[in-house]
Amino acid sequence: MMVKKIAQTLTGLWSLVVGLRVTGKNFFQPQITVHYPREKVESIEGYRGHIELVPKDNDPFTARCMACGSCARVCPSGCITLHIKKVTEPAVSAKKEDNSQKPEQNNQKAAPAKKTKTKRVLEAFELNYNYCSLCGLCVQSCPAGGLRFSDNVYLAGFSRKEFEFDLLARMRAQKEGK
Ligand code: SF4
Ligand code: SF4
Repeated sequence: MMVKKIAQTLTGLWSLVVGLRVTGKNFFQPQITVHYPREKVESIEGYRGHIELVPKDNDPFTARCMACGSCARVCPSGCITLHIKKVTEPAVSAKKEDNSQKPEQNNQKAAPAKKTKTKRVLEAFELNYNYCSLCGLCVQSCPAGGLRFSDNVYLAGFSRKEFEFDLLARMRAQKEGK
């Protein structure tokens, strides 16, 4: 009985020594954490913040997104909700055909049937970041390269509502410098 208690005490002391050794070693290492919010990290390269929409190269207020819905379907957490408007407009090929016809042909023949195409236009891109696991499936599945991880490293809030974003509105607000 006595031997068992001594063995337990020695085991406890040894674990204390091991713990203090780790503490002592790290105590003299350079500090790698920062005192946020008084300090901020210099480089956040490789950081994965919440996803964001990528704007078009020639129009920073328009997203590359084609509203295909692939990201919403693939998301395992159901974080993404798209608001899409369908717009009908003349097909480009129909316009070309009309322009290429000679005036006399237009007079002789009946007007050609109008060709139209229906386009899906993104009105809002809702992200519920509360449930996002940052798995990246949405980014990988986008055929337009329209999604990426943001560098929004200092995101904080007091309620779940503050982690529900309209990424389209956010993208435009960022471009306006808001
Ligand atoms: S990173 Fe994963 S969990 Fe987050 S929105 Fe994309 S698919 Fe959903
Ligand atoms: S997968 Fe890409 S193009 Fe399709 S809806 Fe999502 S962001 Fe838009």
